[in-house]
Amino acid sequence: MGLDAILDVLLPPSCGACGLPGAAVCAACRSALTPPAPPLCGGCGAQVGVPVERCPACRGWLAGARQAVRYEGPAPALVAALKDGRRRGLAPALAAIVVAEVPPPPAGAALVPVPLGPRRARERGFNQALLLAQALGRAWGLPVAQALRRAREGPPQRGARASARGRQAAGAFAAGGRDPVPPLAWLVDDVHTTGATLADCARALRSAGAREVGAVCFARVPPGG
Ligand SMILES: [Zn+2]
Ligand SMILES: [Zn+2]
Repeated sequence: MGLDAILDVLLPPSCGACGLPGAAVCAACRSALTPPAPPLCGGCGAQVGVPVERCPACRGWLAGARQAVRYEGPAPALVAALKDGRRRGLAPALAAIVVAEVPPPPAGAALVPVPLGPRRARERGFNQALLLAQALGRAWGLPVAQALRRAREGPPQRGARASARGRQAAGAFAAGGRDPVPPLAWLVDDVHTTGATLADCARALRSAGAREVGAVCFARVPPGG
């Protein structure tokens, strides 16, 4: 019996947020997930008062970023369950929510997961952004390119102030992953926090030859949240 089959026996399918037996995201939790309310910033996808190309919080490099839901209600628990990794079916379920809420990347784009640092990859055994990218790639019919690596690893970001997070992320990523940098690269991550990580990834991809870099995340922490 393979490990997956053993885990299936140990952990029958249940909602990643509330634990209700059945779907990976139950109907009640699904309806409690709220997409960002338009108008959205054309650059980073943040909720803005009036439609703009670029909001004041936008950090260059990105041709556009979108997120399926706000990081509130059941979203944090779903992200935590995805990182926990024992709930199979959660990555495709979250990808389905992204596909329902976010316009697809342009044809010809490749999905580039935000990489984990080597230490965290070792501890966790997998990268939740890669799981999400693979599920999105299947849904959208787009290839996945693991084109980035961590140039260096900062301390865990949780609890750090936003400004400190920005400093930590600067220069943390570089091209030179297992796959070549695609000309049209769409970053994938579970959560969009300050945008510093996505901006740094985009800078690394652009300086390694990517013509255009966008991003798609499952959830977004509201500015100031
Ligand atoms: Zn639920
Ligand atoms: Zn913006």
